[in-house]
Amino acid sequence: MAVGSSRLGRVEELLLAWFSQNGRDLPWRSTRDPYAILVSEVMSQQTQMERVVPRWQRWLERWPTVDALAAASAADVIREWQGLGYNRRALSLHRAAQHVAAHGWPDDLTELPGVGRYTADAVACFAFGRRVLPVDVNVTRVSERTGQTFSPAAAQALMDLGKMVCLARIPRCAACPLAAGCPSRGRRFEPLRRQGPFAGSFRQRRATALREVAAGLQPEDGEAVAALVRDGLVRMDGEVVSLPQ
Ligand code: SF4
Repeated sequence: MAVGSSRLGRVEELLLAWFSQNGRDLPWRSTRDPYAILVSEVMSQQTQMERVVPRWQRWLERWPTVDALAAASAADVIREWQGLGYNRRALSLHRAAQHVAAHGWPDDLTELPGVGRYTADAVACFAFGRRVLPVDVNVTRVSERTGQTFSPAAAQALMDLGKMVCLARIPRCAACPLAAGCPSRGRRFEPLRRQGPFAGSFRQRRATALREVAAGLQPEDGEAVAALVRDGLVRMDGEVVSLPQ
């Protein structure tokens, strides 16, 4: 969304000045390679940033280009993804790489498997320089609380402010560069609905079964294996469970 007045411009200026001093130094912020940025966005969807950084670096060392990932086996991709959680993301990323290797980057990036509106806009903005603001939960929160609109140039600053200062429940307004004009300054917010615990969940059983298959073992949890088969993460050959090739 474009900046529509000098007042909006001033708010964005304050935000960008804060960002230049406090923004997170994430390795994918120094590249415009759409493949590297897509990997970072897919990895970051449901995994904490501190865990994503070393895994992203390792991934790019192993498969530095979209063609390299497209040529990899699904089994290797699933193995490399282990520990990041939500393993279907690995298969989607692999299929997206195969699509790009065969047809190039589509104009509408949501045509790629596993790429929703936010991820498409993030790649469009950060890699292709398109004038679109990717809107994640952090961007939404800061925009709603301040009542401001921001330009695509503020995307990373908004994400960092939402992550580090304008927190979901108890925002750190005393440290906020936008506090002077923010109508939500000093407010507290209801806790968000949290996802159930991972320990003991069916997600955990699936993750354990997949880890066993990746290690060449045969899992005993038939229900978990059936769910993995449905998602294409493993295949059954008679009684034998293995990773897809
Ligand atoms: S003043 Fe507080 S509520 Fe407003 S944007 Fe800053 S941290 Fe968020």
